[in-house]
Amino acid sequence: MRIVFLGFVGSGKGTYSSRISSDLGIPHISIGDLLREIASKKTKIGREVKKYIEAGSLVPDDLTIEVIRQRLKKSDCKKGFILDGFPRTINQAISLEKITKIDAVINLIVPFRTLIERLSTRRVCRKCGEIYNLKSIKPKKKNICDKCGGELYQREDDKPSLIRKRIERDKKTIKLLRNFYKEKGVLINVACRKSFIEPEKMVERIYKAMKKHNLKF
Ligand code: AMP
Repeated sequence: MRIVFLGFVGSGKGTYSSRISSDLGIPHISIGDLLREIASKKTKIGREVKKYIEAGSLVPDDLTIEVIRQRLKKSDCKKGFILDGFPRTINQAISLEKITKIDAVINLIVPFRTLIERLSTRRVCRKCGEIYNLKSIKPKKKNICDKCGGELYQREDDKPSLIRKRIERDKKTIKLLRNFYKEKGVLINVACRKSFIEPEKMVERIYKAMKKHNLKF
């Protein structure tokens, strides 16, 4: 099962794909996490990637595509994978077609107002990347990750001015990507209007939509 999660920042791509990844036993590949890891290194390329992320801009396609190409070559992807945050441009989608076949694209439809509300209350574990929300997915202990005990923090790009910029940035391309995958017959729409919803409920909704599309998993 080779799945892509498509949606704006704050639509829940990371939260749902990490849960579905453990259910199905296939890796969850977050391009944002991979790029943040590169950005944390004190190399020329690391410093360059950091600049793009901190500005809320997309990292250039050639580098991003290469990162995904290398990741998909690893043996844990043989049984399938879930891509989170990739592709984000048509050029990336076309390159992905050349790398591998995609069986399903889960298109998360969430109102813009909801995205902003969710992102401003999002917290992430510094150590393992687990995603929390101060209103809906609260950690048991304040600011501590339930999974690994790491410290929770607010991403620099989850601050209000950058949230709007990132949403605006993706408006045109998400529309294009939805059409691209609709034409290929792999687009599966899953809507959620609520600001805060238990992830398990959304995951159930996603499985139901996948079954309706006759996907075996
Ligand atoms: P995310 O964790 O998905 O919100 O991504 C964090 C940041 O990584 C984005 O704001 C971009 O700077 C960069 N990024 C994520 N995905 C992509 C992509 N597909 N292409 C280029 N840059 C990306």
